[in-house]
Amino acid sequence: MNPFDIQLHYPLGEQLPGPGATLEVAPGVRWIRMGLPFALDHINLWLLRDRLGGQEGWTVVDCCVTRDEAKAHWEQIFATELEGLPVLRVIVTHMHPDHIGLAHWLCARWQCPLWISATDYYTARINSENDISFGGEGAARFFAAHGLTDAASLDKVRARATYYADMVPAVPAQFRRLMGGDSIDIGGRPWHCISGYGHSHEHIALHCDALGVLVSGDMVLPRISTNVSVHSVEPEADPLKAFLDSIDQLRRLPTDTLVLPSHGKPFIGLHLRIDQLHAHHRDRLDDVLAACARKPGSAADMLPVLFQRPLDLHQTTFAMGEAVAHLHTLWHAGKLRRFRDGEGVWRFAGA
Ligand SMILES: [Zn+2]
Repeated sequence: MNPFDIQLHYPLGEQLPGPGATLEVAPGVRWIRMGLPFALDHINLWLLRDRLGGQEGWTVVDCCVTRDEAKAHWEQIFATELEGLPVLRVIVTHMHPDHIGLAHWLCARWQCPLWISATDYYTARINSENDISFGGEGAARFFAAHGLTDAASLDKVRARATYYADMVPAVPAQFRRLMGGDSIDIGGRPWHCISGYGHSHEHIALHCDALGVLVSGDMVLPRISTNVSVHSVEPEADPLKAFLDSIDQLRRLPTDTLVLPSHGKPFIGLHLRIDQLHAHHRDRLDDVLAACARKPGSAADMLPVLFQRPLDLHQTTFAMGEAVAHLHTLWHAGKLRRFRDGEGVWRFAGA
């Protein structure tokens, strides 16, 4: 368990929404918890009571991956939790498969629109139609250039070219654009869109001042630190700096905000959690800087520095992306320099 976890306040205690059921967490805001076929075994989705174009109904926030179990779970919710009203729109916080996977099915099922940031919409469409960043040859070459040289692992990365499309086989053909700073009316209350960077290209969190609620998506999670990775398609990126700057933007929200995260339980303690995440990454950056000062290192060399546990291939690819992200923050800040060694692997050394 995260040692900081006990410092956060979970107002619902151990309560979870049952399978096929919802739990009201604020007036008109209902929590759905769906299973996921990964080590991260669930995702939280939200139903917001809404009125759109004079019609009563619901807005769905996030969708789960495309799989039969998730569709069946949704059908149970539709049958028992919607008070006989339709879904009026689908809002997606960002383009990762567990969030956008079933948007195509939900939007077709209810003949309703998808609302999402433009960057994440197009990234989802490109990845759904032609994977560019989560597997395949490009990803294998990127990992090799960062020191993952084991041929069997690289073959598995190559073989995962359809990793994203398997979980997101389609994306709705049209969308309505959400941007940071937008205020949208949901059920007669204004909800503020807050853009966030570093986890996906343009993540949108939703804050309702009247309810004191933040739908934080993956930008602030209570127990795990958000994945922040460099991907092959943008190999010189500095997503960790973008992520840390983004969560600082959330400090202007009230301290008693009820945070509704995509994984874990609703909690109070947003500012404390932001402090914890900064401290966590500061420690990791210090460790990486010290390791590279001792001996120039690649991202693969940083895996045992950053992760003190055995990693399977899936976890290794995530961990490699994270290791490059930590190296790049130090490199872009001028604290490390990088060079290619005789094997063509990027190594980072004290500046
Ligand atoms: Zn995500």
